[in-house]
Amino acid sequence: MTIANQKGGVGKTTSAVNLAAALSMHGQRVLVVDLDPQGNASTALATEHRGDVPSVYQVLVDDLPLADIVKEVPDMPGLYCAPATIALAGAEIELVSLVAREARLSRALKAFDGVELDYIFVDCPPSLGLLTVNALCAGEEVLIPIQCEYYALEGLTMLLENVELVKAHLNPKLAVSTILLTMYDGRTRLASQVAEEVRTHFGSTVLDSVIPRSVRVSEAPSYEQSVITYDPGSSGAMAYIEAAREIAYRGAAVA
Ligand code: ADP
Ligand code: MG
Repeated sequence: MTIANQKGGVGKTTSAVNLAAALSMHGQRVLVVDLDPQGNASTALATEHRGDVPSVYQVLVDDLPLADIVKEVPDMPGLYCAPATIALAGAEIELVSLVAREARLSRALKAFDGVELDYIFVDCPPSLGLLTVNALCAGEEVLIPIQCEYYALEGLTMLLENVELVKAHLNPKLAVSTILLTMYDGRTRLASQVAEEVRTHFGSTVLDSVIPRSVRVSEAPSYEQSVITYDPGSSGAMAYIEAAREIAYRGAAVA
């Protein structure tokens, strides 16, 4: 599942980390591939990504096997992270001249023989460049987090067009399967208006679960944790667990 939205700060990383944590705590084996040079998902999953640790960069650019960089997340059995280092910022340009530049991640995932996995989440950077294209080529499903704020739908057309282009030319299996409403502030009318507009537009693609705006969600990464472990009883944790449950049921219905 590729988690994409070229807008920054909409909850891509938070959703990747917390959905993965929720699924792994229910016995699934889950890999999070951090494809953002900022390495926020790696931080939240307590996975070393500073200095010259081998990362997704070497996998994409130097053909290093994915198994060489994947780490099990401390105290989270069944949860794995492929970390991103800042070197990945250069990959966007270095990839341009490489063979099969759009299919690098897809090939690395196909060759991955580390552990058997139930889910793979790819956390995209806030752009539509070659890193995101690699993620779209590698996945079967796209999950788009949408922040319940003004401008939420702006730019979405461009993302959907990109998904269609990749589907037509590179990855016929690709589909936007899931939209997740994030940072919902129940006190504002704006949030409910945005949510309603998104549901009108995208129908059953939108998960019933809505992630509320919650301080606990934003605090968790500073303790190198998901909100699921940091404060399991919080509204944010419960919402992500519920969203993960929906995703699991949908997957079962398809299979
Ligand atoms: P993206 O990966 O799309 O750039 P992030 O997941 O990093 O977005 O989220 C952007 C910021 O918003 C982060 O500081 C994060 O902690 C915060 N955040 C995300 N979801 C929530 C939420 N439900 N409630 C409060 N803060 C949130
Ligand atoms: Mg992010």
